[in-house]
Amino acid sequence: MLIDSFGRAHNNLRISVTDRCNIRCFYCMPAEDVQFMKRDLLLSFEEIVRFVKVAVPLGINKLRLTGGEPLVRRELHRLIEMLAAIDGIQDIGITTNGILLAEQAQQLFDAGLSRINISLDALDADKFREVTRRDGYEKVIESIQVAKRVGFDPIKVNAVSIRNLTEDQIVPFGHFARDTGVEVRFIEFMPLDADNAWEREKVLFASEIVERLSDGIMPLVASENQDPRAPATDYVFEDGVGRVGFIPSVSQPFCMNCNRFRITADGKLRNCLFSLEEADVRKLMRNGTDEQIADAIRLSISGKKAGHEINSADYVQPDRPMYSIGG
Ligand code: SAM
Ligand code: SF4
Repeated sequence: MLIDSFGRAHNNLRISVTDRCNIRCFYCMPAEDVQFMKRDLLLSFEEIVRFVKVAVPLGINKLRLTGGEPLVRRELHRLIEMLAAIDGIQDIGITTNGILLAEQAQQLFDAGLSRINISLDALDADKFREVTRRDGYEKVIESIQVAKRVGFDPIKVNAVSIRNLTEDQIVPFGHFARDTGVEVRFIEFMPLDADNAWEREKVLFASEIVERLSDGIMPLVASENQDPRAPATDYVFEDGVGRVGFIPSVSQPFCMNCNRFRITADGKLRNCLFSLEEADVRKLMRNGTDEQIADAIRLSISGKKAGHEINSADYVQPDRPMYSIGG
């Protein structure tokens, strides 16, 4: 098992399949002149599968594909099919901005994708454009409907909440959760943006959102059956209709429960979103043995720190912004 020096067992691997994206969320990517990875640096599907086959005997059984925007990687459903066929993989999820999901949902479902998180920060086309610097709101809404029809269950919507920008979306999202049965998870804005424009004052804390939903709709009660290793704290509205979750990475870091590590699209192993160090497994993948790859995974996990330092004056933002790490 991949147990770090703080006793945390790791069974959850996040795989970034590309750093490219079809929109430009301001809290993640620069507006223009994005320097994307050269294509020959990206792990091939075969390399990703080999990596996962090495990781499974070490204790990995859950995968999540991310990016950049994972659905811009050509033939992604083929990768999902290959991953779903690996003995020991129990669950494959994806985090997507949803723009291309309507057209791919059936293929992804048939390939063995189990869970979908769709990122959407606003329930209004103008505000969507303000956050993402692109059009596409209607496509995301359509994708949510198509994903439901295809049979994905549960579907979760991730909304990053920013003070003075998306505050007015909180109560509409509460109603959306109640009307559609989709769980909305509010994520605190983290200092991983490409423009280095993060400020604590822009973070809308989970506790404030709970208060606004309670005042604007009705009180929330903490949900029973919480997964203690999950980053989100789940609530339901008092009348039992509508589920919302909170990922309070800044106000209440959940690092002591962390069970995940990551591989970037260019094959770098990261034991934390906020790591300043990474191990180059692409080199091993192209020139090394499975045992060397397994050793690199063990070494990375054993060097994992207790937690991130967003709240410390010593916090240093990683060189890679979110789209390049794989959120
Ligand atoms: N493109 C896909 C998407 O947006 O769902 C997957 C990659 S994206 C980096 C994964 C998640 O990270 C999204 O839910 C996005 O909203 C979130 N995210 C990106 N930058 C963030 C930041 N600075 N703080 C908090 N969440 C962030
Ligand atoms: Fe693209 Fe996702 Fe980053 Fe938005 S958050 S720019 S959709 S990678």
